[in-house]
Amino acid sequence: MSNTDNTQTERTPITVAHGDGIGPEIMAVTLKILEAAGARINPEFIEIGEQVYRSGNTAGIAPSAWASLRRTKVFLKAPVTTPSGSGFKSLNVTVRKTLGLYANVRPCISYAPFVSTHHPKMDVVIVRENEEDLYAGIEHRQTDEVFQCLKLITRPGCEKIVRYAFEYARSHGRKKVTCMVKDNIMKMTDGLFYQVFQEISVQYPDIQTERYIIDIGAARIATHPERFDVIVTPNLYGDIISDVAAEITGSVGLAGSANIGEHVAMFEAIHGSAPDIAGTGQANPSGLLLGAVMMLVHIRQASVAQAIHNAWLRTIEDGLHTADLKGERTQRVLSTDAFGQAVIDRLGQLPQHFAPVAYSNPAAVARNPQPLYTRRPAARKEMVGVDVFVHSADSSPDFLAGRLSTLATPMLKLQMITNRGVKVWPGGFPETFCTDHWRCRFLTVGANQTIAHSDIIDLLARVTQGGVDVIKTENLCTFDGEQGFALGQGQ
Ligand code: NAD
Repeated sequence: MSNTDNTQTERTPITVAHGDGIGPEIMAVTLKILEAAGARINPEFIEIGEQVYRSGNTAGIAPSAWASLRRTKVFLKAPVTTPSGSGFKSLNVTVRKTLGLYANVRPCISYAPFVSTHHPKMDVVIVRENEEDLYAGIEHRQTDEVFQCLKLITRPGCEKIVRYAFEYARSHGRKKVTCMVKDNIMKMTDGLFYQVFQEISVQYPDIQTERYIIDIGAARIATHPERFDVIVTPNLYGDIISDVAAEITGSVGLAGSANIGEHVAMFEAIHGSAPDIAGTGQANPSGLLLGAVMMLVHIRQASVAQAIHNAWLRTIEDGLHTADLKGERTQRVLSTDAFGQAVIDRLGQLPQHFAPVAYSNPAAVARNPQPLYTRRPAARKEMVGVDVFVHSADSSPDFLAGRLSTLATPMLKLQMITNRGVKVWPGGFPETFCTDHWRCRFLTVGANQTIAHSDIIDLLARVTQGGVDVIKTENLCTFDGEQGFALGQGQ
């Protein structure tokens, strides 16, 4: 595949949304710069966000907008406002998940000495898993006192994001990929993420690897971000640490972001719609502009991307800043529009202090690097018990255990009761605080015995007929003989 840009005359259709708050202002400036730089794009404009929500569409995006996105497969999106209230779903999460945008790539770079920051040597790219984890959005109220959100981590999800991070590191000349997880606590879900990281890292011997527990990892990003190169992490941790990382470069208004899928890609700023400064002309368009630069590389217009990025660096070096960047090296504080004009005026110039950016067009494989996930042969799955979750406000662990033991079946015996994951029976402590939500673990009586679904149904029939309020069950299985469930805390 050649490194030259797309055919000179061909315009790439892209879908564009102006968004809410400062969105329309920063999008107008961004498009103006793209046009001045000679970007060969053909924008299709769609309505998303507040107005669409207010018209009664709880997803914030109209069916016609989906058609455009599926046609162009490239989305340049300004930030939108998610109305507060439980009736509205986050548009960003909906778009990312519906279109399978599994990788969120957020480069966070400091521009010292021109933008004030405590971390002048920072140049980190956060590759955040974008579709699963707690963002699956599967939440339930189970009892008077207890609410649940399911954390889903999948092998295909881990393989895709980890491979993407290594491919990104290799194709961008980066040296190290750091995995951040909380697998000391979530041994099965975060444990899978790290296990996949280890498996895939073997295929990239040229890239250094390391692992941090997310809490100390986040602290180190805040204090020593220059230690990191590429970071790969599950969805929630990535959401938090990428905002921290962007903020400590000097302004959350500086960072662009790419959301990459197998079919569609979306480019945006990492910040929100900033309603507090909307309409004042103070918004920094840099985040969206740098998102658009990533988009131009994606659609194989690397030379245009390079010209814009270098002109932008030169503008920052010349001390021409929006209000959020105001500092010692600021020569003039410019409005959103004037900042955009300053970038246009510098098209064709190179930065003097920063190394000029050099982009090349990605080969087709680098744009879509991972082989499609290939499902492995199914493991030998055997059911060995069941966790029965029970709502009971007035039970003590011993009372509940006594009641359930009498209701057990010949196949399944009560083995343990936990409350919020802590073992309270047998041998619990009176100091352990208990809510009205109990997990009651029944296991087979014999060591190598297995059960069928009908055994669980028998147990549930007896337990519910005995007046116990069952919330839900989780089957306890082994996979090729390996236990597929965690022990209770203190078990
Ligand atoms: P925000 O990022 O909009 O603003 C946080 C702070 O940073 C504000 O003080 C704001 O003025 C400032 N800021 C943000 N971008 C700036 C820029 N380009 N130039 C100068 N200053 C800038 O976060 P928020 O206030 O928590 O959220 C506002 C709305 O945006 C909410 O409705 C939220 O749901 C939405 N949001 C959207 C996206 C998105 O569309 N990708 C992302 C995050 C938040």
